[in-house]
Amino acid sequence: MKALGLIKPNLVAWIEKERPIAGPYDAIIRPIAIAPCSSDVHTAFEGGAEKPSGFVLGHEAVGEVVEVGELVNEFKVGDKVVVPAGTPNWRARGIQEHNFKHAGGPFSGLELSGSRDGVFAELFMVNDADNNLALMPEDISIEDALMTVDMVTTGFSGAELADIKFGDTVCVIGIGPVGLMAVAGAKLRGAARIFAVGTRPDCVTLAKEYGATDIISYKDGNIAKQVLELTSGRGTDATIIAGGNAETFALAVAMTRFGGGNIANINYFTGSDYLPIPTLAFGRGMAGKTIKGDLCEGGRVRIERLLNMIRYGRIQPGKMVTHKFYGFDKLEEAFYLMRDKPKDLIKTVVYIDWNKEK
Ligand code: NDP
Ligand code: ZN
Repeated sequence: MKALGLIKPNLVAWIEKERPIAGPYDAIIRPIAIAPCSSDVHTAFEGGAEKPSGFVLGHEAVGEVVEVGELVNEFKVGDKVVVPAGTPNWRARGIQEHNFKHAGGPFSGLELSGSRDGVFAELFMVNDADNNLALMPEDISIEDALMTVDMVTTGFSGAELADIKFGDTVCVIGIGPVGLMAVAGAKLRGAARIFAVGTRPDCVTLAKEYGATDIISYKDGNIAKQVLELTSGRGTDATIIAGGNAETFALAVAMTRFGGGNIANINYFTGSDYLPIPTLAFGRGMAGKTIKGDLCEGGRVRIERLLNMIRYGRIQPGKMVTHKFYGFDKLEEAFYLMRDKPKDLIKTVVYIDWNKEK
C-alpha cells in the first residue's frame, strides 16, 4: 500500500508499505478524511522525535472500517468511524492508576504516529477498536468530527489542566487550531476574561468568535509584561501554552498569579534542551504556582462526548478548516502547507473518495 513516510529528518516522501495487521482487538481503517497536525511537522522537520526510516506520520483521521479482529464486538466492516489521536492500550496496568496517556511508558497512549505507523496511509491499524473508535454520526459534518480527534481534545485538555473556574482571568498563548480550542474550552469552563496571544488575522477573528476578550501580539514585546499591565499587576489565574518557544514558557510562568495560579502546557517544544522558569516570578521556588503539561485525552468516550458538544451547538470546530484538498495524493501538498503556515491557514483537511482513487 501507499503511504507518506518520513525517510529521514526533513525528508517526507511517498513509499510502499506492508498492509498493517490487526490483532484480535484491533481494526484496520481506510481514511476518508485526514488532517496533518503541527506535531507531525515538529517530528518531521524540527527533530522533535527520532523515528525509523519509512515511519508513517499522521494521527487525525475519520475513516471506514475494512477489517476487525475476532474479539472486536461493537464495530463491523463498513462502519464510518472517528479515530482519536490518543488510542490508549486500555489493558495496560497503569490505567488502574488513572494514567491514561503514559500507562505503558512515556507517550504510550499516542500509538498512531507515536510508537507505530500513523494515518498518512491507504490503511492504518487502530488498537483496541471497541474502546478507541467512535461511530461517525450522520448529523455532524466530517470536518467538525475530524477536529475533535486532536484539536478539540487537546485545546480542552489545556483548559482542564489549567483547572479553569468561573470568573477566571485566562491567557491562551498561541491561537493556531490548538490554542483556538483552548480559548473555546476556557470560555465553556466559565472564564471571565480571556487574553489570546497570536497575530494571524484569521486566527484572531476566530479567537474572538470562540471567546477571547483581548488580543495580544507577541510581536509587540514581552507578553507577560503586557498581561501584567492589563491586569494591574495581578496576572492571570490560569495560562495555557499552545504555541511559542522555550522563552514563551518562562513568560507564561511570569504572567500567572502568585498563590494558586495554574500554568498548563500543551505545546510541543523543539529546539531547546531545557524549559526556563524565571526564579523571581516563580517566587524563588515558593510562588504557589502549579505547572502541568500533558498530551491530549484520547479514547472513545472522550470523542463521543466532544461529538455530542458539536451536536448540541456548544462548539463549531470545523470553522478552523481553511484549506480543503481532494484525493489521497494531495496529502503531501497539504502536509507541506501545514509546515509553511501561510497567513490565511489554520487547518488543512484532505478528503478521499476511494471509488474515484482506483
Ligand atoms: P500553530 O503553529 O498553528 O499555532 C501556533 C501559535 O503560536 C500561533 O498563534 C502563533 O502566532 C503563536 N506563536 C508563535 N510564536 C510565538 C511566540 N514567540 N510567542 C507567543 N505565541 C507565538 O500550532 P497548532 O495550534 O497547530 O499547535 C500548537 C502546538 O500544540 C504545537 O506545538 C503542536 O505540536 C502541539 N500539539 C500538542 C498536542 C498535545 O497532545 N499536547 C496535540 C496536538 C498539537 P501567529 O498567529 O503569529 O502565527
Ligand atoms: Zn496532533
